[in-house]
Amino acid sequence: MLEIDNITAGYEGVIALNGVTVRVDEGEFVSIVGPNGAGKTTLFKVIAGTVPARSGSIRFKGEDLLKIPAHRRPHLGIAHVPEGRQVFPSLTVEDNLRLGAYTDAGRRDWDENFETIITLFPILKERRRQLAGTLSGGQQQMLAVGRGLASSPSILMLDEPSMGLAPAVADAIFESVVEARKRRNLTVLLVEQRAVEALESCDHGYVLETGRVVLSGRQSELLSDDRVRQAYLGM
Ligand code: ATP
Repeated sequence: MLEIDNITAGYEGVIALNGVTVRVDEGEFVSIVGPNGAGKTTLFKVIAGTVPARSGSIRFKGEDLLKIPAHRRPHLGIAHVPEGRQVFPSLTVEDNLRLGAYTDAGRRDWDENFETIITLFPILKERRRQLAGTLSGGQQQMLAVGRGLASSPSILMLDEPSMGLAPAVADAIFESVVEARKRRNLTVLLVEQRAVEALESCDHGYVLETGRVVLSGRQSELLSDDRVRQAYLGM
């Protein structure tokens, strides 16, 4: 579904991605783990189109994604749940979700998607008319995931959903994503510093360090790899 080939990208004077190749098959859950500054967020921004690729290619459902402007990409079925949630604080919970539903598919499937979102996150129904800025960090993250789901995506890209959250809250978010994937037949691409949770949820994983993929494999291969166990799982 998503074929990222040899992508190089960065900022003035910084090479953030240095020849990154990642494959995500339809229906798969793929996690990318790595330390601060490894390039995880930059990779998502290149997929979303907010940072240009300097070289390499990305195909999504067979289309040359890098030729498609950023504002069209959500309409292809790509939902980017950004780092730091970025909900609209002065809009209500429901209006944030409705904004997520601005794609054709999101508008068409609003009722069904809203039902899924409030089943996964009942608190969002309770807080439906409350301003998003008054929610706790965990609730804002639920809203950010819900807003992504409201666009009726085929792939949900989550950038460090656990950031700044207590472990129990982060676990609840991971569980909801796993459940959403089951209900909606979603493909999930997750980047995370919390390697244990990210690798335990995935089918395939990649380890990104200083802009390069240093390891990749099936979940069981990575969880039993000595380098991963020492560097990321604290074993
Ligand atoms: P984090 O977990 O801290 O978000 P990350 O793995 O997502 O880390 P990126 O945010 O993609 O990493 O950063 C990769 C590299 O690019 C780092 O060296 C970072 O300092 C640099 N970088 C990121 N954003 C910018 C920017 N807007 N301008 C200049 N350099 C940047």
